[in-house]
Amino acid sequence: MSYPHSPSGPAGPQEPDLDLEALKARYRAERDRRIRPEGGRQYQPVAGRFGYYDEDPYAEAAPDRARLHDRVDVVVVGGGFGGLLAGARLRQAGVESIRVIEKGSDFGGTWYWNRYPGIHCDIESYIYLPLLEEVGYVPKWKYAPGEEIRQHARAIGRTFDLYRDAVFQTQVTGLRWADDTDEWLVSTDREDRIRARYVITASGTLSEAKLPGIPGIDTFRGHTFHTSRWDYAYTGGDADGNLHRLADKRVALIGTGATAVQCVPHLGADAQQLYVFQRTPSSVDVRGNRPTDPQWAASLSPGWTRRRRDNFLALVTGGQVAEDLVDDGWTSSARLHQKLIPSDSYQDLPPEERERAYELADFQKMNGIRARVDELVEDPATAELLKPWYRYMCKRPTFSDSYLQTFNRPNVTLVDTADSHGVERITEDAVVAGGTAYEVDCIIFSTGFRVGVSGITSGRLPVHGRGGTTLPEAWRDGPRTLHGFYSHGFPNLFQLGPLQNASSVNFVHVLDEQATHVAEVIKAARTRRARYVEPTAEAEAAWVATIREKAPDQYAFQAECTPGYYNNEGMPRKRSESFGDGPVAFHALLREWRANGGLRDVLVDAAPDEG
Ligand code: NDP
Repeated sequence: MSYPHSPSGPAGPQEPDLDLEALKARYRAERDRRIRPEGGRQYQPVAGRFGYYDEDPYAEAAPDRARLHDRVDVVVVGGGFGGLLAGARLRQAGVESIRVIEKGSDFGGTWYWNRYPGIHCDIESYIYLPLLEEVGYVPKWKYAPGEEIRQHARAIGRTFDLYRDAVFQTQVTGLRWADDTDEWLVSTDREDRIRARYVITASGTLSEAKLPGIPGIDTFRGHTFHTSRWDYAYTGGDADGNLHRLADKRVALIGTGATAVQCVPHLGADAQQLYVFQRTPSSVDVRGNRPTDPQWAASLSPGWTRRRRDNFLALVTGGQVAEDLVDDGWTSSARLHQKLIPSDSYQDLPPEERERAYELADFQKMNGIRARVDELVEDPATAELLKPWYRYMCKRPTFSDSYLQTFNRPNVTLVDTADSHGVERITEDAVVAGGTAYEVDCIIFSTGFRVGVSGITSGRLPVHGRGGTTLPEAWRDGPRTLHGFYSHGFPNLFQLGPLQNASSVNFVHVLDEQATHVAEVIKAARTRRARYVEPTAEAEAAWVATIREKAPDQYAFQAECTPGYYNNEGMPRKRSESFGDGPVAFHALLREWRANGGLRDVLVDAAPDEG
């Protein structure tokens, strides 16, 4: 059936004829041939016999430091942007004694670990990098390279004097609340025993690399590593490329997500032979990276980062803005939706009309992405394999002006593994797919991370709250928090992350709002000499009810998507744990809550507010 459809009525934009039913059938078929019954269990952690995949290639030997048996005001678990933002916002709130505890040998988190060739942020750097005005820095590129981002993380550490008390190459192994002294006992793998009044966990959402459970994976005799631990000693070169040691090497890269899209052009340029093993193609849109215009940088006035971040956030979460300040692939998709659903009729459209309009905008976007593959890839059969057949937000969209062209090189082969649910087997010297053994010297796993799993929710970092209760015990019937940050029974413990909170593709912006809120709460607790911070059971129950009531119903959408981490590997969860009104409303709600007496629900035995 064909729809020359205009969702906004006769005056709306004319859409080209799209055979929606045929497209939907194609999407469904592509999903069905990829579903694996074992879902997320197809992966294995980089632990145990695969533990060497997790080793730190960047650290000097672990420093020989004395065990710490001391006391600080705040322990922050994790030194990525979440932890750095928590530290910075606490400093601004007047807190002196802050210890960040970090597994890597420096600050940076995901930007410490991920240094693969071609690494860049895929959100505009002017809105992605936090605390730019505070540090006094304007990124050199619209999409900054990873090393520039890592150096910015270090600059935040210096600007806010967070190196002073930080400990690196150290992992927190347990948190136990001491009922008698009202403080946390923090233990680590370096036998530290630190007492802390407050603990903030910011251990990241992409911190645990995963490997596919491919039969024979541990029999391979060549060289292997995961993209998040790039082995430059083996490949030569650096994040800018020039992987000269691969000139006589046959390399297999497994996976074609956002990481692969950035590193494949360098591998293709330098390896003798590159095989890219693809299960589901990414959508690859225009990048258009460019150096920062110095005149523009000089023209920026105070508050510019907030204005720009807020503008982006509003636009990509369905809001209306007068001007699109970022103007890139993310915002153009949002603008396309708005063109099809003008603001004056948005609320009035019946739900099925609205859904139809979104579908149309989506199909139009994806048709453009597929047409781009035909434009850039010379071999028609390879081009067909590189076309994504699913809705735009089924997978993390990617952007590149060199990935697709790499498949025109004579030394690069795309091996599609959709029908066999991925690579079939790995042998001593080869990767097997479609019955063919591809002999290689090196296998690089670009197979992603366990997403959204923080140590304290997975149980990897055991937490014992008041009376020794563990978090899994308290959350037996599901997570229970107030605003996602804290839970009844776990005084003075704050979590940063997406759980029962509101998220965005620009996650660092979300982390900054979270860190600011937590720092404000701790500041109020100190000013009003609260015994501790702990939500009442009633406030917590009310928030869980709000989450349930407003939970976005994405089940139907996600059930139609090809499998991946966005839809729990094809088994979407019925219950969403995010705030359905979105991040703009959530941030406003937090500000209002702070201003209008909300703190009463969390400050225990506090002096009255005099302000
Ligand atoms: P992803 O999880 O996105 O990709 C993993 C890839 O491995 C997928 O293509 C997957 O295929 C493939 N795969 C898994 N198992 C097999 C198998 N058995 N055989 C063949 N292929 C297999 O990981 P990434 O590291 O690419 O990206 C993770 C996230 O990191 C991104 O979504 C993004 O949020 C973030 N990121 C951000 C960047 C930035 O600039 N801000 C840059 C890079 C990453 P399938 O799709 O079929 O499951």
